Amino acid sequence: MSRISSNFRNLQDAVIRHSEADEWYSAVNEWIINDVEEDETLTESCVCGKEKLHYLFTIRNILNGNILYPIGSSCIRRFERDDLDEEVDLKVQLFELLHAIEQNEFIVLSSDFFSRKLLKYLYDLGAFIGSEYNNYDPFRDYQFMLDMFNKRMRTQRQEKKATAIIMSSIRPFLRRMLRDKIR
Ligand SMILES: [Zn+2]
Repeated sequence: MSRISSNFRNLQDAVIRHSEADEWYSAVNEWIINDVEEDETLTESCVCGKEKLHYLFTIRNILNGNILYPIGSSCIRRFERDDLDEEVDLKVQLFELLHAIEQNEFIVLSSDFFSRKLLKYLYDLGAFIGSEYNNYDPFRDYQFMLDMFNKRMRTQRQEKKATAIIMSSIRPFLRRMLRDKIR
């Protein structure tokens, strides 16, 4: 048996053992993503046996509360659920965005780091804050960022405002949210 298929077999065993359903195709629907950490030391192994995980996901069974940890993003993709895949992508993008912000003092609103989905996700998480600049309505900043993201050309003033929102809202939010999740 090849290495890949034995890892997949290990994953299926672990998931089914902790699920109510006895079959893989049904068991995969019982799980949600609970949390994720980034491990820059690459010292942990997935429940399937794969070594050197970069992102350590925790998943929880919604029927019996069982937890599987750590599990890698590629194993979650094995569940073949679009909703989980999207959540994996967004959660990883939060870490990547924070690292990009920490490395570049003046990050711009580019598709290298942002997407419409990520902006919406950030808004839903509460990353935009109310201030005197948006009449204490965070939705205005989200709307502005979305408008700017969709624009091909931005004025210097608009560019500055977008960067100010990244630095004053998104950066402190990501630092707070991810502070204890990077090792
Ligand atoms: Zn795995």
